[in-house]
Amino acid sequence: MHKEERMTQQPMLCLTCFRGNTPNDPDSMDDFWVLDLERDVNWGDPTYLCKYCCERIAALTGFVPEADYIEQANIVKQQLRRIHDLQAKLEERNRRLDQIAQGTRAVRRTKKERAAS
Ligand SMILES: [Zn+2]
Repeated sequence: MHKEERMTQQPMLCLTCFRGNTPNDPDSMDDFWVLDLERDVNWGDPTYLCKYCCERIAALTGFVPEADYIEQANIVKQQLRRIHDLQAKLEERNRRLDQIAQGTRAVRRTKKERAAS
């Protein structure tokens, strides 16, 4: 089976809803596609599933629509980038705190040495 922009072999009908190459409003033909199952029925008729039936099958079987998947993948990518940036800031801050702590210890040590002498 494979995805096609539109049905090309007669009869051009979805196997389950009998839709032709007619997208739902507001979709245009650019948004429309069909799945060619590459199987013949009724002695040579093609088997197509329209985009809407494929989406319904995917929803019924628990799969996420492609647009939702892309949106979620972009959100995950943004969040990973944000986590990376925050980790870099945290590490830089920890390095500064270590330097401040080392400086404070050195000052205390010097004060003790001066007091002892
Ligand atoms: Zn259909």
